[in-house]
Amino acid sequence: MNREGQPGHIDHIKQANMGAVYRLIDQYGPISRIDLSKVSQLAPASITKIVRELYDAHLVKETEVSELGSRGRPATGIELDTKSWHFLACRIHYGYLTLALRDLSNQIIVEDRVEFPADKTTSWLMRFITEIELFFTRHQNRLERLTAIAITLPGIIDATYGIVHKMPFCHEEDVPLGAELSKRTGLPVYVQQDVSAWTISEALYGAAVGSQNVIQLVIDDIVGASVISDGRVLHTDSGCRIEIGHTQVDPAGKPCYCGNHGCLETIASMPSILAKTHDLLAAYPESILHSAPATIESLCTAANQGDQLAIEIIQSVGHSVGHITAIMVNIFNPEKIIIGSPLNLASSILYPAIENCIRQQSLSQYSENIRIVPTHFMNQGTMPGAALVKMALYNGSLLVKLLHG
Ligand SMILES: [Zn+2]
Repeated sequence: MNREGQPGHIDHIKQANMGAVYRLIDQYGPISRIDLSKVSQLAPASITKIVRELYDAHLVKETEVSELGSRGRPATGIELDTKSWHFLACRIHYGYLTLALRDLSNQIIVEDRVEFPADKTTSWLMRFITEIELFFTRHQNRLERLTAIAITLPGIIDATYGIVHKMPFCHEEDVPLGAELSKRTGLPVYVQQDVSAWTISEALYGAAVGSQNVIQLVIDDIVGASVISDGRVLHTDSGCRIEIGHTQVDPAGKPCYCGNHGCLETIASMPSILAKTHDLLAAYPESILHSAPATIESLCTAANQGDQLAIEIIQSVGHSVGHITAIMVNIFNPEKIIIGSPLNLASSILYPAIENCIRQQSLSQYSENIRIVPTHFMNQGTMPGAALVKMALYNGSLLVKLLHG
């Protein structure tokens, strides 16, 4: 949805400058106009004008600060006014929705979890819009001015136009989620695929802060990846993305919802791991998994206790994922790989399996200094949605919309 009304050259510079100033105020605030001019390298007159516009829109406020290196009386500083604006961050998950009203500091005002079962008889888009309207009705006494709605979901998404091409638990295709919701609510709507949005939140607040080249792997109900290249999360404003989960690794494998078969996701996703464990149990009579609940937590605990079946299953996931990751390492040359997975509970078994594949299968100059670490967040709740709004504020696109009503 971000590309509609793409600004002309001058407007684009104005938007980028406004976003940059907003970001610096967020990072350094309270900060004086003079210091803001120094760190942004924008002329004092430009700073005065931009701050004025943000102030009039209640996006920043004034407070007293000491200027850098000055012993004089306190100057007037600028900091973000995060309480006057709210946004709605939603996550669509298997069987339920999480809906959170947040202010611009990302503080949760109220969060609801709502059942959202698969239902082939009615359009999920209409049911989803109804749930959002009900949420606003339930909490209308707590609402401040609304800036935007951000939605993250699994599947194959065109983030530019807010179109959901495919969702794993849903038969409808090419659903115009962003356009329809924006028409109903009059608000900017940001739609992003789960993994990309999660990587944006890792880049803004998590395990990828300060790193320029990072691959994030997600090994969960879905298997996916996202890439930060030269400090930018790739494909956040386009219909394409990095689809490792739907790369075929077993030509004779099981059918996948994408239409192909033997995809990585059919081998390394949590449901397929549990199914494989179940199938192999009989061949491992000594496994402690016979007396444990059929969960990923039990599998990890057993592996950490030396259970051969559990170790082999986790290592085999590491090898399948590692093989594809090695190809990505040769393309993107990352300094760090961050992993978001329930299997992080057995990271001492999973990570070396992935690392060995990378060392053996990619260029040694690229692989020798890579660190593998867990993600800071797990992909729960609405933090990834909140990161979409933060990114739209930082690049100025949402600020321009708020200023122009
Ligand atoms: Zn597939």
